[in-house]
Amino acid sequence: AEEVGGGDKEVVREYFNSTGFERWRKIYGDTDEVNRVQKDIRLGHAKTVENTMLMLTEDRSLAGVTVCDAGCGTGLLSIPLAKEGAIVSASDISAAMVAEAEMKAKAQLPSENLPKFEVNDLESLSGKYDTVVCLDVLIHYPQNKADGMIAHLASLAEKRVILSFAPKTFYYDILKRIGELFPGPSKATRAYLHSEADVERALRKVGWKISKRGLTTTQFYFSRLIEAVPM
Ligand code: SAM
Repeated sequence: AEEVGGGDKEVVREYFNSTGFERWRKIYGDTDEVNRVQKDIRLGHAKTVENTMLMLTEDRSLAGVTVCDAGCGTGLLSIPLAKEGAIVSASDISAAMVAEAEMKAKAQLPSENLPKFEVNDLESLSGKYDTVVCLDVLIHYPQNKADGMIAHLASLAEKRVILSFAPKTFYYDILKRIGELFPGPSKATRAYLHSEADVERALRKVGWKISKRGLTTTQFYFSRLIEAVPM
């Protein structure tokens, strides 16, 4: 395996512009070119998106709400957000992902509702948004980088932050299955799990508290979903 220490982000960018892009484009797509494990991950991830949309819409409308979708991937969250009338800023470290997301959005949304797409790593994002959402991106952050990443996302948000991450509680389960998640050369991208307590502590340090919690598990997909609001 590749040593990724300080160069994590470069490895991740390179991966999601090449083999990782091809792999995840299929998983996040809707064609049959996926194996059983990938299909299971597709279903699990769809539930995370669905639960996120529920969290965001159950007590208010998204019309006119500004949302930052940090690490937007192929746009699977950005597009339904825009459909609900949110003003979406979608960004990803991978240019290939952003191009795919933009293509999908253009096929599904009227031009006046299109998210604003940008190639950017989330540490470089600035501005203020009502809501900042970051789904299944923390898996690329070791614990010593996660606190800073969470603090930065919170600094961009005025009302709420929604994060999902692979929870450490399922460590042994995941360990057994991780080989199937990252087969072949893509193993160079390490997967980092996070404990809910660590994420909660990172939020608390910058004045945020968890207000809602959800958990999605399928056979090969585990994701803790949390909503945080200012304390
Ligand atoms: N959030 C999307 C979703 O749930 O459909 C995509 C999740 S995918 C597992 C992880 C994404 O995070 C990839 O598109 C990857 O390029 C992006 N990513 C990883 N590290 C990033 C960083 N430092 N800044 C921005 N995006 C990043």
